Amino acid sequence: MAKPPVPLALSGSRPVRGKPPRHLADLDLAGRRAAVTDLGEPPFRAVQLSKHFFGRYTQHPDDMTDLPLTSRAALAGALLPPLLTAEQDLSCDDGTTRKTLWRAFDGALVESVLMRYPDRVTMCVSSQAGCGMACPFCATGQAGLTRNLSTAEIVAQVVAGARLLADGQIPPRPSRVSNVVFMGMGEPLANYANVVGAVRRLTDPVPEGMGISQRSVTVSTVGLVPAIGKLAAEGLSVTLAVSLHAPDDDLRDTLVPVNRRWQVAEVLDAAWNYAAVTGRRVSIEYALIKEINDQAWRADLLGSLLAGHLAHVNLIPLNPTPGSVWTASRPSAQREFVRRLESHGVPVTVRDTRGREIDGACGQLAASASSSVLAHPASPPAP
Ligand code: SAH
Repeated sequence: MAKPPVPLALSGSRPVRGKPPRHLADLDLAGRRAAVTDLGEPPFRAVQLSKHFFGRYTQHPDDMTDLPLTSRAALAGALLPPLLTAEQDLSCDDGTTRKTLWRAFDGALVESVLMRYPDRVTMCVSSQAGCGMACPFCATGQAGLTRNLSTAEIVAQVVAGARLLADGQIPPRPSRVSNVVFMGMGEPLANYANVVGAVRRLTDPVPEGMGISQRSVTVSTVGLVPAIGKLAAEGLSVTLAVSLHAPDDDLRDTLVPVNRRWQVAEVLDAAWNYAAVTGRRVSIEYALIKEINDQAWRADLLGSLLAGHLAHVNLIPLNPTPGSVWTASRPSAQREFVRRLESHGVPVTVRDTRGREIDGACGQLAASASSSVLAHPASPPAP
């Protein structure tokens, strides 16, 4: 197998583009108070605006009846600019899985996926438009990185989902977002400050933020070792997911090219440090690819690397992506992989493949506006 080049994002190249408009969700409450004061309004208006956005999921001046009519438009215009416009909404699983394609202020496209289960609702969000990590089995990785999303652009995806749920648009009845996974487009830890800002906005209580439990937030990474160390020191109790996909450097160099910078042993050391500091069990992601990484010996090697550590393995049957020759493992190989991991005492789950038929499953998010048929008319702009 030819090894792809080391991801561009590591060479220090940065896309040069304008910044998204400043939004209330980019700021902490003190920053919002200062911004409101700059507009000539009393500081408590920051709390009122925050309650509308984080608690009622609205940015529309008409909804803000507790604000004087004269101030509403100015405040909303300055602090709640529309950031993402829905281009497409696709749903499946009887309306309980919904993928939205969003267009940002500069035309950048990103996708988010809402998945409703009997006991929880998970929002899978994008942290970047595109991705610079170039994993060859992932659709997002193929087109490279466009740009980082701002904190507010990340939060807006969750607020939009929360609004759909509150409005009763996801059957069977109104509900709330309980979980957020940074498993959409992008490498979250390559957009560190904005992602940590988004985690804080999502998990701080209303009116500071949305009040989602930190334990219900998962940040998934290819294994950017220094950033994992930094995240461990943030004092957050979010779950770390590490996309390992191979237990040996030889194969991982190909499947996750950043492995040539930080190898399996270093990545796992960073994961065990994260578990020790936070007390949180680390999730090891492993996409099972037929005859590439699904051999019994690799299951044994993985099991021996993980045994005795605070970890569990999340096996993801490979979701096919356009142009790739790789497919999911045979059921018998998958069963044997699970059995061998369990024989090492390592807990294993197999990820469901929600959203597969709307290209909304893991690794399928490509944001090609023309790729699918509209199942729903596009919604109005998100916050
Ligand atoms: N950049 C982050 C988030 C990416 S997506 C990361 O790599 O962790 C979340 C998960 O989906 C990652 O584990 C990723 O490797 C996996 N994934 C990517 N493409 C996939 C595919 N085609 N089939 C199954 N899983 C895939």
